[in-house]
Amino acid sequence: MTRSLWKAKAQKTNYPALKNNITVDVAIVGGGITGITSAYFLAKEGKKVAVLESHELAGGTTGDSTGNLYKMVDKRLHHIQSKWDEKTARAVAESRAAAVDLIENLVKEHEIKCDFKRVPWYLFSETNKKDETIEKEIITAKDYGIKADTLQELPIPVQVSSAIKVEGQAQFNPAAFVRGLAEKIDSENCHIYEHTNVHHIEKGEDHVLSTQHGTVTAKKVILATHSPKGIYPVQTAIYPHREYAIAAKLNSGDYPDGIYWDTEATFHTSMRTFKNHTGNYVLVLGGHHKVGQEDNYERFFEKLEQHARKLFDVAEIEYKWSAQHYKPADGLPYIGESSDDGIYFATGFSTDGLTYGVLSAMIFKDLLSGRENEWAELYKAKRFTPIKSAKNYIKENINVAKQYLKDLPGKAEAERFYEVGIGEGKVVEVDDEKWAVYKDETGQVHCHSAVCTHMDCIVDWNDAEKSWDCPCHGSRFEATGDVIEGPAFSPLDKRDVKSRKDS
Ligand SMILES: Cc1cc2nc3c(=O)[nH]c(=O)nc-3n(C[C@H](O)[C@H](O)[C@H](O)COP(=O)(O)OP(=O)(O)OC[C@H]3O[C@@H](n4cnc5c(N)ncnc54)[C@H](O)[C@@H]3O)c2cc1C
Repeated sequence: MTRSLWKAKAQKTNYPALKNNITVDVAIVGGGITGITSAYFLAKEGKKVAVLESHELAGGTTGDSTGNLYKMVDKRLHHIQSKWDEKTARAVAESRAAAVDLIENLVKEHEIKCDFKRVPWYLFSETNKKDETIEKEIITAKDYGIKADTLQELPIPVQVSSAIKVEGQAQFNPAAFVRGLAEKIDSENCHIYEHTNVHHIEKGEDHVLSTQHGTVTAKKVILATHSPKGIYPVQTAIYPHREYAIAAKLNSGDYPDGIYWDTEATFHTSMRTFKNHTGNYVLVLGGHHKVGQEDNYERFFEKLEQHARKLFDVAEIEYKWSAQHYKPADGLPYIGESSDDGIYFATGFSTDGLTYGVLSAMIFKDLLSGRENEWAELYKAKRFTPIKSAKNYIKENINVAKQYLKDLPGKAEAERFYEVGIGEGKVVEVDDEKWAVYKDETGQVHCHSAVCTHMDCIVDWNDAEKSWDCPCHGSRFEATGDVIEGPAFSPLDKRDVKSRKDS
């Protein structure tokens, strides 16, 4: 079982499911950090808002993140500067710093119990191979007036060739923040519905969102679903990756809180501490790969555990989980209206989206109230940046094209159902069609079409999370076919195993 530390430690939620037809000014799909902070601001502006969450609040990537808040970026500020320009990189750092400050103010104003604290952010290289990266980041930081110290060692037991430290960044429990803020939303103006999956949006002057037991009619819709649901051109410019996390409970060792990023490690790229009355933990995250494009997913957890045990006095790995992020083609997220249709989205956050999610809410608050926002143009969803995007765009879309070849005859993993072991999933070729076949622990076989309902790519079995993952645009489905996340609206189509003679 995979489960994140944050979701386990945060207060539980108990919002009702939507059971009737309602009309609001703004329908927000998704109750992660983007959806809930947007709802908070828009309700305060006096808008009638409904939040529709298919699972539970912060049950998506927000609750599976590391909980770090910083003005720097995963891609490094100096890359943003070289891809764009100095003005853009400076605006990125400033807008992100404003979002972190806003989170701190919300925590203070509403006394949200989410273990928010200001901590330093460190970027380090273990060997001199990446010293140049550190050097460039130090220069860029200093150019923007960000106080950056150079270090030769860190307060955690890692090998350091060079390192940079930026004070005044922050950490919290992201699930506790989102659930705590949700309780403070003006309930007159905003209703929150959990276990309410939006399975269709009929676009029009008034958009109509369909859920299992009711509809929501709204002129404005915010798709706060991490990746927009349905088919949008932006999906060719955001690239889904999975990353792995463990929370190791320590026997001993008391390390200062901080955000520790290793710039050259492939498996252990980010570490942080977390302490409360239940224990003293170190979180280790890493092991990026494109969604649905691995043979052995479980090995990522094994590598993280080995690494944690090498560095720290680990009592046990109490939590392990995995989550998804979407890398943008030109290095910046896409936040805004999709195409003058009243549908807004916020995506392409890479692993910086707790801050970008709140920044999106700040932008939506102004855009949906007819005001200008100083950062809306920089991040606008409709931007067209062929030169800045070209390298990633070509590479990633060739990769997507290759995934479609898996639909060719003879490209299945098995030909007979008995080749699928207990607890295992395989793509089986049945009458020239690819089936996603899963045999559960009781031996019952669950059959679905292996064709992703988003854009017809063939899904891949994820052995660590027992899910079907789409290698093209990152949709993920339960072993039993239901949508977990990603742009697909509909579950995998069921197939009838009994109709097969060889079952
Ligand atoms: C391993 C990892 C670590 C990370 N660590 C950090 C970090 O330390 N700092 C940082 O800034 N960023 C981090 N990120 C990125 C960050 O977590 C995300 O960018 C951010 O949480 C996205 O928030 P969101 O609200 O947009 O999406 P989500 O939190 O994914 O919320 C989307 C919600 O939409 C709901 N939904 C989807 N479809 C439907 C539907 N059809 N109907 C109704 N509801 C629907 C989902 O159930 C979900 O709850 C990390 C990412 C990963 C993968």
